[in-house]
Amino acid sequence: MSHPGLDTSRPHPARRYDYWLGGKDNFETDRESARQIEERMPLVRLTVQENRWFLHRAVRFLARQGIRQFLDIGTGIPTSPNTHEIAQEIDPSARVVYADNDPLVLAHARALLTGDKRGRTAYLDADLRDPAKILGNADLRDTLDLTQPVALMLIAILHFVRDAENPRAILDTLIDALPDGSYVVASHVTLEYMTPEEFKAVRAVAEAQSQSRSGVELAELFAHPRLTPIGPGVQSVSQWWAQEAPAPRPRVEDVACNGFVARVT
Ligand code: SAH
Repeated sequence: MSHPGLDTSRPHPARRYDYWLGGKDNFETDRESARQIEERMPLVRLTVQENRWFLHRAVRFLARQGIRQFLDIGTGIPTSPNTHEIAQEIDPSARVVYADNDPLVLAHARALLTGDKRGRTAYLDADLRDPAKILGNADLRDTLDLTQPVALMLIAILHFVRDAENPRAILDTLIDALPDGSYVVASHVTLEYMTPEEFKAVRAVAEAQSQSRSGVELAELFAHPRLTPIGPGVQSVSQWWAQEAPAPRPRVEDVACNGFVARVT
């Protein structure tokens, strides 16, 4: 294969995620692998759906707070509506910078660059673990004005950064670059709501792919003096802005993902 992102002989995590979301950008190998994981972890499909809906409500919340600039790291295969579509529905002049380190996402990135002409959308081929490079990127500087509030979105990405890679330092660098009035929104896979039996069954699968963190550990990652948590700070993604979410709301135990929202001051 000349392009690692387009290898269809092996399952790809972003294409599996796309399958669980009901997208079309996946192949039989991805679907087969996704079904195998789902057999062990039946809540995976509900979890990715609830995470995605959390993203939608978060962007609406941020736009209502007056946020017009978004830095969305860990874009995934484009699934409509994306951050720019929701933000630009509220204000067509909203500006969004996406960043992802996956060649497959890069191959799909053109679909992310079709925003409203009155706003701006950019895509960076970049790694969260090198935040200084993201912040120094010319396209980012061209698209976002870092003297004005920005929403930093880290949706379902931080569990790919292991403790050994020092996620606190990564977050400090990003948060330090945000002016007052900015926001940080994150979601993070967690195994904490599972029964001991469920935990035993899924732990090996989940931990091979990512690092689960509890809600307390997620809050600790964001223990930054400039952050003021909104509401409870951390709670299940399904509980955020629940009155705006499709009813009925699932039980917290059936969704393996926490969300965090904070204001930068
Ligand atoms: N935010 C989207 C997609 C989540 S899937 C959503 O919640 O729906 C996680 C994405 O993070 C994938 O596209 C993966 O390629 C990307 N990712 C994982 N580790 C990364 C890293 N170190 N730097 C940049 N992107 C990363």
